[in-house]
Amino acid sequence: MEALIAVLPGDGIGPEVARAGSAVLQAVADKFGHKFELVESAIGGDAIDQHNDPLPKDTIAKCRDSNAVLLGAVGGPKWSDPNAEVRPEQGLLRLRAELEVFANLRPIQIHPALVGASPLRPELLQNVDMIVVRELTGGIYFGEKTRDENSASDLCVYHTHEIERIVRVAANLAAQRKNRLCSVDKANVLETSRLWRAVTAQVVTEEFTEIDLEVLLVDAAAMHLLSRPADFDVIVTENMFGDILTDEASMLAGSLGMLPSASIGSGTRGLYEPIHGSAPDIAGRGIANPCGTIASAALLLRHSLGLDDEAIAIEDALAKLIENGARTADIATPNEKTLTTDEMTASLLQILN
Ligand code: NAD
Repeated sequence: MEALIAVLPGDGIGPEVARAGSAVLQAVADKFGHKFELVESAIGGDAIDQHNDPLPKDTIAKCRDSNAVLLGAVGGPKWSDPNAEVRPEQGLLRLRAELEVFANLRPIQIHPALVGASPLRPELLQNVDMIVVRELTGGIYFGEKTRDENSASDLCVYHTHEIERIVRVAANLAAQRKNRLCSVDKANVLETSRLWRAVTAQVVTEEFTEIDLEVLLVDAAAMHLLSRPADFDVIVTENMFGDILTDEASMLAGSLGMLPSASIGSGTRGLYEPIHGSAPDIAGRGIANPCGTIASAALLLRHSLGLDDEAIAIEDALAKLIENGARTADIATPNEKTLTTDEMTASLLQILN
């Protein structure tokens, strides 16, 4: 098949891991006889430097023209002045809204060989296999903001249709897995959460009778994620809770650098990115873990291009890579040999080919 893929490297380690993702997509195209055209565009701090806009019109147009978008990461100290009018993160939030990708899927599985890289006891990590479905284009990140000398406010708004559509995405995923859905909210305090809980119960009761629905308050969920992570199948939650809980859950897998994400809407075009940020503390040193971005490329092939065999080929190669003992610094134990980003990618390509 032929596909146009927009690649947005961004800032910090973004370009380092995006390069790895692009190389893997190109290798898959060669191996399976596809033609992928990868077109790079600016976003985030990089785009502010070049165009004084974190999401230039040309970038939006290229993303709209493409079948899928692969993104590195945005942000960094150079652009983090809290009083600045333009900030890198605005580019990413606007891109998610422009592409109407309202559902952020974050699968979390633990490779048996990486159990030692997690701060949790190994027996807690047995059989952990969950997907967190985070609402991505609503809630407090998108509400009206105010600021005066002595106060500030961020408005959190959810509409029924926004909750219905994200719950349907999550319930459909649960129906293909273990039929277990956990909805996370803060309904004892927040009105938006009370609406969230009522709408979730209604959608599941009326449309997904086979699904077992559990409801947790976000504070309890934060605890249960660490005390009984293997009990979760699909978790659905609103934007900010999902942001925080997925960073917490990433430690189950040993490092933020391991985990991919897919942001999808009602069509096939999606936005794929590792869950980590631009990691300014290690940027430019060539030591970033590319696995989260490479796994995101697999999700891109599956969800946007319908290439499941190709996605599985990447996922199998990643599992083999870890099994073979290849480690970047973030997932290595103190005496293990570590590979650079490029070495890790080259080892993966060798397995893939
Ligand atoms: P971060 O995810 O960039 O880094 C947190 C820690 O994890 C750092 O110690 C970093 O070195 C490590 N880490 C992250 N990814 C890694 C990888 N692939 N390999 C090895 N180690 C890795 O989070 P942060 O430090 O809070 O944020 C840095 C910047 O990134 C900020 O400007 C923030 O706004 C931005 N950010 C962007 C995104 C995004 O683009 N989607 C997401 C989160 C944060």
